Amino acid sequence: MAAPLIIDTHAHAFNTSDDADLLVAGYAPLEYGDIAQPLAPPSDEGTIGGLLGAMTNAGVSRAILLHTWLGGLERLAHPDASEADHANKLALQNREVCETADANPELIPYVAVDLHNRDHAHTRRELEELKSLGARGVKIHPSLERVAVDDPEVADLWQACVDLGLPVVAHGGQTHDSHDHHGAPVRFTAVLKAHPTLRTVVAHLGGAEWRTVPALAAACPNVAFDICEIIQYVGAPHAPTPSELGQLISDIGSDRVLFGTDFPWYGLDDTIDRVLDIPGLSQGEKEAILGQNAARFLQL
Ligand SMILES: [Zn+2]
Repeated sequence: MAAPLIIDTHAHAFNTSDDADLLVAGYAPLEYGDIAQPLAPPSDEGTIGGLLGAMTNAGVSRAILLHTWLGGLERLAHPDASEADHANKLALQNREVCETADANPELIPYVAVDLHNRDHAHTRRELEELKSLGARGVKIHPSLERVAVDDPEVADLWQACVDLGLPVVAHGGQTHDSHDHHGAPVRFTAVLKAHPTLRTVVAHLGGAEWRTVPALAAACPNVAFDICEIIQYVGAPHAPTPSELGQLISDIGSDRVLFGTDFPWYGLDDTIDRVLDIPGLSQGEKEAILGQNAARFLQL
């Protein structure tokens, strides 16, 4: 039997392994409740080379390289920087992602937008330029940015993605802060209904707010979900049990669930094993989650 097509729709990579180790160690997804002990991150370096090696070892043929930009935290960390400084820094980083993917065709670049930048004309021009440089989609993190996806201030950003035909991957659910609801699945409903041609992936199956995801799926045919992070915490207080995870995927429609890993926080091999272990799904459904669903939904 031929090996299934495997596409990681949610990967990150950093310039040095030290950068990656720091970020991996610094992020605990406390939204899932008290987690007895932090999971051991994969042994692969969280660099581009580490990601490419992990892909080869795990039989992953392509990966979406997501660039994340935390404009709110940037402004706190660099209070003297001007808006132009922030925009230039992000522009450089986004170009680097496109160049990396250009040099490594198995990587698909998704660039970041700054949810705190209110110069939407600038962002639109940037996205046009980045698309010409190879960008295939956009990543946003409403929860860490503390900007709600349905905030009228960012309506122009959604419109730019619609007009440019760029899919959006959005962190779904909370983060370390279980009281933050900027990226709550229910908040996507009005936005995605208003833009029926926009394809959006709500990450982590909505995280700790996973119970609200089937309603979003039912309301919006243009949304899909990735499985990373939450699949590592099955059984945690605010995460589904294994059988609840299988049921959740069936309720959404298994063809709308995409494999992702959130590398380098979690490993490719390990996440594939976890997908193949989800109870209540057929082998065909699990294999489609590993790759075909992404190829179809994100037109890869
Ligand atoms: Zn991620």
